[in-house]
This record gives sequence, structure tokens and C-alpha cells, in this order.
Amino acid sequence: MHRVLLIFAAACLSGSILGAQAPAPSSGVRYTKLLIRNATVIDGAGNPARGPYDIVVQGGKITGITRASAAPESADRVTDATGMYVMPGIIDVHGHIQFHAGGSPNGAAYPKDYVYKLWLAHGITTIRDPGSSEGLDTILNHVRLSAENRISAPTIIPYVTFDGPQTPDSARALVRQLKARGAAGLKVFIQRPDLYDALLSEAKAVGLPVAVDLKVQETDAMFVARRDVRSIEHWYGIPDAAIPGPQNFPDYYVYDNELDRFRWGGDLWRQADSTRLSAVLDTMLAHKVTWDPTFAVYEANRDLTRARNMPWLRDYALPALMRFYEPNLMNHGSYHLDWTSADEAMWRNNYRIWMRWVREYAARGGNVTVGSDAGFIYHLFGFATIREMEMHQEAGFHPAEVIQQATQNGALLLGRTNTGVVRVGFEADLAVVDGNPLHNLKVLYGTGVDVAENGRMVHRGGVRYTIKDGIVFDAPKLLDDVAGMVREAKAKASAP
Ligand SMILES: [Zn+2]
Repeated sequence: MHRVLLIFAAACLSGSILGAQAPAPSSGVRYTKLLIRNATVIDGAGNPARGPYDIVVQGGKITGITRASAAPESADRVTDATGMYVMPGIIDVHGHIQFHAGGSPNGAAYPKDYVYKLWLAHGITTIRDPGSSEGLDTILNHVRLSAENRISAPTIIPYVTFDGPQTPDSARALVRQLKARGAAGLKVFIQRPDLYDALLSEAKAVGLPVAVDLKVQETDAMFVARRDVRSIEHWYGIPDAAIPGPQNFPDYYVYDNELDRFRWGGDLWRQADSTRLSAVLDTMLAHKVTWDPTFAVYEANRDLTRARNMPWLRDYALPALMRFYEPNLMNHGSYHLDWTSADEAMWRNNYRIWMRWVREYAARGGNVTVGSDAGFIYHLFGFATIREMEMHQEAGFHPAEVIQQATQNGALLLGRTNTGVVRVGFEADLAVVDGNPLHNLKVLYGTGVDVAENGRMVHRGGVRYTIKDGIVFDAPKLLDDVAGMVREAKAKASAP
């Protein structure tokens, strides 16, 4: 009898959601009443900084924002934010959850909280997962564990990669099935217009938003915008819709060769016709399509040496991830086998044109968001999101607008109108930052920055606290956990 009970208990434990395979229990704490004292506030709605203010958080909500007072109200946790900035938690709308290198279950395994902790440590409180190969059931489980503060993770919005159907009927059936299983949206990169038509009309009927990654194919931005997709990821399909005739690729080009594909993708903005591009943007605008450009994930294409040698890779990139990034056509995004000065020059020019059109889309009223697509091409989770913000600034956006793109605009895309802004009544999704990101976005990097203070250089910066749904996380502590995971993995790799 006892033996049976023991076996039963062991089975329950190993099958439990916090069993050996799950991430560690959450280090976040929710207080009955949290007071953030003396903070300068960047609201995320594009307004100038205000303050100093005292911010009161009760449960998961912001309940008070008042001028900092010498006699503040009492609270069961007080955080002194003197000299710090409070902004909305960042919403990264393109964050693939990965527990394995390359996001493939066949890749080398990561600790399950590695990616989550890198995100939270950078003030990221919400991620839209545009499709994870770890399986919808696992991801849905983590959606719940995160919401219940049982794991340290951002709020997860689980989109599902739409894959498989070869007929319009089976495409419609799969849309209904994914909706029933709990998908929050679909990420689509299929190639056939008939399947697109079927799935987009069915998705609209059942109320599932669709994000598209168009790659190079006969469907382009005009085709999907007219069918009301929610977002276009990256940029594929936008210049393509404005090229008279087919893309002008060299005769040896084969799409499935990633070196060909990524190299010559860098010439498409040059090939596009400006008058036609303007019309493509107007069509996207008329159908309220969000453009999520993900500039930074391609940055290695314009400066490979820089991408490979970013300082944070040393302490925060797992050896398995670094191996995955090394040139190998079997690994998605690891195509730099013969990357030349000419390629980098072409890609620099490509960025100049691309960035100009993203700025133009925002100027016409289009929604532009921040998405990182980390885990590929030397692009490390968390750090990649901050780099994406820097590249939005490079595209010509004011830092206040960049922060808005990373917060309020992301919330707009997700249809979550109660977060993404520091405002009374909104969800307490916040980043408390040691420095002024309007002055220098680099203060958001977990590794911080060196700044001059009273004539000497001191090290500052980084997010001090990430507050998700009122739950307070010690951001540097999360980053220390990650450094520990990396040290451990390296020790294991070098053990005899
Ligand atoms: Zn992606």
C-alpha cells in the first residue's frame, strides 16, 4: 500500500507542471501596496518626461501617480527611484520562446528559464510569441504559470505557426482547431494564394489575428493587406509588391539556399519603385496593418564582425547558442559562409531605403512596433530588443517615439488597451531604469553603460526592477542567474 502511494506521489511530482523540466519557481513578489518614490516618468504615449512622481501599485494595477511628496502614503514595499526613470514595460512583439538552440526540439537544450530571464532582465513585460517549436500545449502551460507568478517570465501572447494544410478546406479546419486549443493568433508563411484566402477568411470569422512573414513568393504585402492581416513581420513582401515584374535575382539563385536568400534579399528595396511603394503603404494603412520591421536581427548583414563580437555574448550566450550561430547552412539564419565587403555595402544601402519607408509609414499614421526575433544571427534575447530600439532611433524616430513603439504601439497591436502606458487604472507593467533612456537608449542594456559623473567615469544603467502585472522582479539578479547558467554550461562543456 505504502509502496503504491509512493509510486503514485512520484508520478504526480514528475508529471507536475513544476517538475524537473519546468523553469525554476518565480522570484517575483507581488505586494498589497507598492510605492515607487520620486521617479521621473516616461509615459509611453509619446509625451515628454514628467516628475518626480510617486507611483502607487495595488495588486496588478497602477492606482496613483502624484507629485513626489515629502510625506508619502504608507505602503508595504517602498522602492526609492530617485534619479531613476520609470517607463512602461517593453512589449516585444516578435519573441520566439526557445528551450533549444534554433528553436528546434532537435537542437541543444537550454535551461527553460534562460530566455525568459534575459527578457525580464531587460524590462520586457510582454512578448508575443510568433510561433514556438516547443509545442502549443507547453507554451499555453507557461502562459498560465507566468500569469499565476509561478515562473519568472513575461506575459506571453501565444501565436501559433500555421503549417501543414495543402487544401483550402484543411486550412480552414486547422484555423478552427488552433482557435479551440487556445492560440491567440496565427503566424503564417505559407506560399499559396488559395490557402491564404481560405485561412485569412476563416481567421477573420473566428476572430484570430494573423501575423505574416511573407518571404519571397507570389503573395505580397498588397495581397495580405487587402485581406486585413494584423501585422507584417520583417519587411518581406513590401518592396516586392512595388517591383515591376519579378524580383531581379541572379541566375544561380535558389530560394532554399539561405546564403542566396539572405544575400539577395538585401537588394530588394533598391529594386522597388517609389510611386508603387507609396501606394503599398497606403493600402497597408487603410487596412490598419501593423509593420513590425525587426531591423536588428539582420544587422550582421551590414557588419558581421560587430554582430559576432558584441560584449554580452561572452557572459550571457550559452555555448550551444554560439555554436548554432556559426556558419552552417543547416541552421536557420547561420548563412554567413562567404560574407563579403560587397554584401555589407549592399545591405547598408538596403537599410537606408528600408528605414526611410518605415519612418514614412509611421508619419502617415501607420502602427510601427518593436520586435526582436532573437535567437538567430548572433542576436541575443533581451539585448536584441534594446538593439532594435536603437535601430528605430537610427531610422529617424525620436527616442520618446521609439519607447512608444516598444510599449503603447505593441499594446495596440495586441488589442490590450490597458497596458503599455504609465497611467492610473492601467496594468502595472513597468521598468524602473537606472538612467534616462531618452538621453541614451543604451542605459536599457543589462550590461549598463559608463557615464561621466563629477569628472569621473562610473558604471550605471540597466533596468533595476521589472514590474509585470504588479509583480516586482530584481532585474540584475535575473541577469546574474543567466550568467550562472552560462558558466555552468561552459564548465560542463570543458569537463574531461
Ligand atoms: Zn521570427
